[in-house]
Amino acid sequence: MTPPHLSRRGVLAGAASLGAALAPTHAQAAQTAEPRPQDRPKKAVVFRNVRPFAARDAVDLTVVDGVISDGPAPKGAKVVYGDGRIALPALVDAHIHPDKTSFGGDWVSRKPASGIAEYCAQDVELFRSQKRPVGERAYGLMAHAVTRGTRAMRAHADVAPAYGLAGLEGVAEARERLSDALDVQIVAFPQHGVVRTPGTAKLLEDAARAGLVDMIGGIDPISFDNALDEQLDLVFDLADRYGVGVDIHLHDRDEKGTKVLRGIIERTRALSLRGKVTVSHVFCLPFLKGAELDAMASDLADMDIALTTVSPNESLVLPIGKLREHGVRVGLGSDGVRDAWSPFGNADMLHRAHILGWVTDVRLDEELTDCYTVGTHGGADVMGLPRVDFTPGSPADFVLLRGECVPQVVVDMPQRDMVVHGGQVVARAGELV
Ligand SMILES: [Zn+2]
Repeated sequence: MTPPHLSRRGVLAGAASLGAALAPTHAQAAQTAEPRPQDRPKKAVVFRNVRPFAARDAVDLTVVDGVISDGPAPKGAKVVYGDGRIALPALVDAHIHPDKTSFGGDWVSRKPASGIAEYCAQDVELFRSQKRPVGERAYGLMAHAVTRGTRAMRAHADVAPAYGLAGLEGVAEARERLSDALDVQIVAFPQHGVVRTPGTAKLLEDAARAGLVDMIGGIDPISFDNALDEQLDLVFDLADRYGVGVDIHLHDRDEKGTKVLRGIIERTRALSLRGKVTVSHVFCLPFLKGAELDAMASDLADMDIALTTVSPNESLVLPIGKLREHGVRVGLGSDGVRDAWSPFGNADMLHRAHILGWVTDVRLDEELTDCYTVGTHGGADVMGLPRVDFTPGSPADFVLLRGECVPQVVVDMPQRDMVVHGGQVVARAGELV
């Protein structure tokens, strides 16, 4: 089911507005006598001999108009042979930065940096030194993610006077080119600070007013921006006025982090933005224990505030199990991929599920399977997308691969032989179709 906040329509709203100039008007459509939706032939595909969730017995999966169907395969349905491959829900990257990447280009040698401001300066250097425009770089990374089985991503794009809206526009351009293969939400991310970098607030508003973004971002309101109330008020006011969501980066590990969280919870309640707010990283949460953690998780759940983690290491990964006990939605993401911040990253969410298992030192089958679930259902919940569970009506967004069982797949990370989006094969053997 689509949660009431951020429907699939909402996810694609930006893409739709970008494509508006190309879409025929109603009058034009009438002249070309387009068939009514109910008269259009249905797009049906049968995936023969596949094993959903690595079930022992193979089945034929029928997909009609992008969703799993329980009826017989319509006449003329296309057939795709699965040859006994496992079918798993496609993955969701709940936190990635496609505008910053050098992926697919020349190797970038990084210089020492400490503190966000120094990393930001190297971001700008990298951005200016790249031969390929941001739209090309973002497209390369996002297309690569599709070939690794990603069905949807929440893309943070820097908004700062150093770039204007170029990062956002580049990611929006890549989203448009991949609209048949990937659902994308775009966050206007004030990486250089909202208050400490004059001009940023206006750019955020320009982005929201132009309908370029699904969410407004924020960053460490106390420790980086030194303006707790001012930043949060500004970000939440924009979200409220333009009907978009909020997704705030929060890196503080101490009480500064929990103070910001309380400010976010308060404003979510005051502006009735329940279910539309996400906090990313939230490094202060793993340091809360016992009753303190329970109380914070319960308050987050009360306002249906979602969280994302990139599972960076043992001490900073979110306590996902505990948070879920309280009903908090938690997604998994890549973060930056081969950017100024880090030479690492590959936008492969199966690899990220593997990292989550490694970092949390899991051993049991159900724990390994759960790492995959965070990478699929967890991210879908955060983005407000329906889960892929292969029941009738479920989106036909899945990966086909060879393997034994889900825990083994998480450990071995086999090649994604086919990636299916909306019932269509969009990638085969690591290449876009
Ligand atoms: Zn980030």
